[in-house]
Amino acid sequence: MSYGQVTLPVESIPVSQEVDVVVIGGGASGIAAAISAANNGAVTLLVEQRGYMGGMGTVSLVPAFCPFTDKEKPIIRGIGMELMERMKHACNADYRKEYEHTLDWVPIDPEVLKRVYDDAATESGVALLYHTFVYDVLLSEDKKSIEGIIVVNKTGRSFIRCRYVIDATGDADIAAMAGVPFQKGDEQGELQPGSMCYLLANVDRSKFHRFLEETGDTGQLHKTVERAITDGALPEGRKSISGLAWVNDYLVGVNFGHVFGIDGTKAEDLTRGAIEGRRLAERQLQFFRAYVPGFEKAHLVASGEQVGIRETRRIQGDYVLTGDDFMEARSFPDDIARNAYYIDIHLANSKGNMTFTHLPPGQSHGVPYRVLLPVGIDNLWVPGRAASSDRAVQGSLRVMPNCFAMGQASGTAAALALRTSAKSRDVSVPQLQQLLLEQHAWLGEDFTVPAADEA
Ligand SMILES: Cc1cc2nc3c(=O)[nH]c(=O)nc-3n(C[C@H](O)[C@H](O)[C@H](O)COP(=O)(O)OP(=O)(O)OC[C@H]3O[C@@H](n4cnc5c(N)ncnc54)[C@H](O)[C@@H]3O)c2cc1C
Repeated sequence: MSYGQVTLPVESIPVSQEVDVVVIGGGASGIAAAISAANNGAVTLLVEQRGYMGGMGTVSLVPAFCPFTDKEKPIIRGIGMELMERMKHACNADYRKEYEHTLDWVPIDPEVLKRVYDDAATESGVALLYHTFVYDVLLSEDKKSIEGIIVVNKTGRSFIRCRYVIDATGDADIAAMAGVPFQKGDEQGELQPGSMCYLLANVDRSKFHRFLEETGDTGQLHKTVERAITDGALPEGRKSISGLAWVNDYLVGVNFGHVFGIDGTKAEDLTRGAIEGRRLAERQLQFFRAYVPGFEKAHLVASGEQVGIRETRRIQGDYVLTGDDFMEARSFPDDIARNAYYIDIHLANSKGNMTFTHLPPGQSHGVPYRVLLPVGIDNLWVPGRAASSDRAVQGSLRVMPNCFAMGQASGTAAALALRTSAKSRDVSVPQLQQLLLEQHAWLGEDFTVPAADEA
């Protein structure tokens, strides 16, 4: 239903800051972008609507980092790896002992991660502005660049003037405000479901493992979940748990089940997702207590502040990475990262099927610089979940290690652009690749930086 329109009065608002690079969003892509921009000399501000960074990993309690390896060697290195190692180091001795050498599916301790991100960003000289929502942009007269962003927070509304913008909102909010074309979901607009993740305390890990050994059930509890669905104790839908991430022997992060029909760019849908997600978490808690030894006294300590969102907008970039590129493990002359995570598309309704497509161990494909460059705007990068890809590859590219890598490339490129007042797409790719390598990113075993005139 529409209630019509109102016209707001034209108003002047204060300019609250002037910076070189503004990063919007403090998820995996945003923190890596901000740190790399600042480390490479740009005066950088990160604006985040919550009171902390971490994005899905803290806001929505996504319980673990997806693999940093291709099952043979680490392929996501650089800032992402450094942040994950720093989180491990900041956890307690038991955690460190257990996960010291783990690079795949490292559990997230959300409170530790928030603090680690605060420290890492501020040490690099990134200015942080939390509790602030970006609701519009001001375009240049020719509409080809963003002159600044318009924010709202407790202080009021203000304008932040900047030279370059990194849209790390995960939803391409800023790109959409700037008029960049995008796609959402499949041809019918169907989106992957959201999930309400949560943390359960007071659980007994050894008892749980004994139960798995005795019953032969999998760690994802396939048999037990199916039994509970047949009994009516759980709703129809996914017949296993996506993931249990043990922070310690008595605290576990849970990613289980789906909330369908949520468009994460609509506040009404997010509201329904929050309510339905919490209801589902409560039902799952009762399931755990009744069906899973070791969870009899489980206590729900926290659920996501927002339902976890897997998919919204994908921008139209200078290149659209495709499922074919993934399957053929293609490399590109302008690669800024590599990806080996499997294509993981979740069912869009309770009767649908999940799709998984793996590359063989040791293989990965390149992620070209052009997927970060939204068409039509010359001073904007979009790393992370909303980077330019088809729907199949988004099901793989969206995970946090890849977001770190794309973020690092965006921030480094913005700092490079600043040095010569260049447009985003005029940045020297060999120079960018060289800097990324010097700053510990990984671009492939046989990768060598091409001579400048080859790029
Ligand atoms: C249920 C679920 C399970 C998943 N499981 C895993 C997993 O096991 N491992 C893994 O690695 N990945 C997993 N993923 C994927 C991964 O968590 C996300 O795709 C990834 O976090 C995306 O990172 P991002 O930086 O692009 O965006 P986000 O993490 O979404 O961060 C975006 C940030 O921008 C802020 N923001 C947004 N709009 C604005 C605005 N207009 N103004 C100000 N701030 C704004 C948000 O508050 C947020 O902090 C999962 C995702 C979901 C939903």
